[in-house]
Amino acid sequence: MSFTELGLSAPILKAVADQGYETPSPIQAETIPAILDGKDVMAAAQTGTGKTAGFTLPMLELLAKGPRPQANQVRALVLTPTRELAAQVAASVATYSKHLPLRSTVVFGGVKINPQMKALRQGVDVLVATPGRLLDLYNQNAVRFKQLEVLVLDEADRMLDMGFIHDIRKLITFIPKQRQTLMFSATFSKDIRTLAKSMVNNPVEISVSPRNTTVESVDQWVCPVDKAKKSALLTHLIKQNQWHQVLVFTRTKHGANKLTRHLEGKNIKTLAIHGNKSQGARTKALKEFKDGSIQVLVATDIAARGLDIDQLPQVVNFNLPNIPEDYVHRIGRTGRAGASGFAMSLVCADEFAELSDIERLIQQILPRRTEEGYEPIHPLPESRLDRRPPRAKKPKKAKPYNKSAHPRARTAKDAQPRRAEHKDGQRSSDNAQGRPSGNSKKRFSGGQGGNTKSNSRPRFSGSGNR
Ligand code: AMP
Repeated sequence: MSFTELGLSAPILKAVADQGYETPSPIQAETIPAILDGKDVMAAAQTGTGKTAGFTLPMLELLAKGPRPQANQVRALVLTPTRELAAQVAASVATYSKHLPLRSTVVFGGVKINPQMKALRQGVDVLVATPGRLLDLYNQNAVRFKQLEVLVLDEADRMLDMGFIHDIRKLITFIPKQRQTLMFSATFSKDIRTLAKSMVNNPVEISVSPRNTTVESVDQWVCPVDKAKKSALLTHLIKQNQWHQVLVFTRTKHGANKLTRHLEGKNIKTLAIHGNKSQGARTKALKEFKDGSIQVLVATDIAARGLDIDQLPQVVNFNLPNIPEDYVHRIGRTGRAGASGFAMSLVCADEFAELSDIERLIQQILPRRTEEGYEPIHPLPESRLDRRPPRAKKPKKAKPYNKSAHPRARTAKDAQPRRAEHKDGQRSSDNAQGRPSGNSKKRFSGGQGGNTKSNSRPRFSGSGNR
């Protein structure tokens, strides 16, 4: 299948060709015709599958045909959970619409609101936004939805995890009922389906990869080690294997800082990316990681979520995530688009429960490799594969917002997750975000390694059993 068969017009095909894309990814092959047909869509797809172009290309096609936006009006609204993802999606919208007379902009918290109000004044065809800042702008009459035709929820599962449900429900009441709604989520739990029921209308359901599978092209290992030896082991692995670009995940911001200091002390160029870092620091860290000036980027889950760093060879889980799905997301940053990747988890005896939950989720026992000289004194118990369906995940309930108690909370902390163990606000507006800018030919090999399946008949796989 080629892009020309999907019903897209010349300006969009040209933008796609400029990017060097040769064939639509499986999700694009399914979403593009359905969206062009005016259908609501619920798509289960993770970052790396090409989902952004999957909704952006047909959305632009539809917008190119309609009337121009009036002052402060928005014709298509894309909601994302984090600031980084908002910046990335906005960069994609700009890239794919560069040959069209459409205006787009992005708004998120942590930066001044005035320039955003100004950008909205003329009205925009596409607005990419995080929910909190969008509500602020709405409350200040800077944005209106009378002309809204398309609503996209990107990474809906993450929005629920981060406690945005109330913001979303509130926003929905301002938006015309007569609209096209597109919902993208890595997984479709019961909670997501409940939310979807109130938002989408007779949707086409699309799933491009079996849920919760990790990328086949990623070599995954568990390295059993005592907690106290993890930093030393990581230093040893980086030096011995000459890893030149490694993304390391820690569970907490404090852990990220501590590890960064340790690695720096061993002459390994390292920066951390998490919510306590200023936007400037985060943007700088990401840029330096991408251009190779630093060797290691230490990140917390939410800070790293959705970051599109092309062909990352190495991911290390310094701690296993509490939420097993996060393991799948983390691993998803390597081995993309057919490139091979390597993911190593440093696991201590205390983390056996987390390891078991991950293995139960991915239905696979992860192979183990103990590093000589770092054998654990506290042994990691043997894994046994639990064939029962993964445990249902309980999303954190959003705290009711009390404006009198936190008079400035809305404006200053937009998009900050409210989950206790991850308080990482998203503060970067780095628009480059590693999107390929050259025009070398890119053949989409699935995004999920060799594992991605495209179904000619839209369906959902394994809904609501986590
Ligand atoms: P996404 O899942 O939207 O984050 O996209 C993942 C990556 O795949 C991005 O770097 C896109 O530029 C790239 N991409 C999207 N569609 C295609 C395609 N049809 N062929 C090759 N690369 C693509």
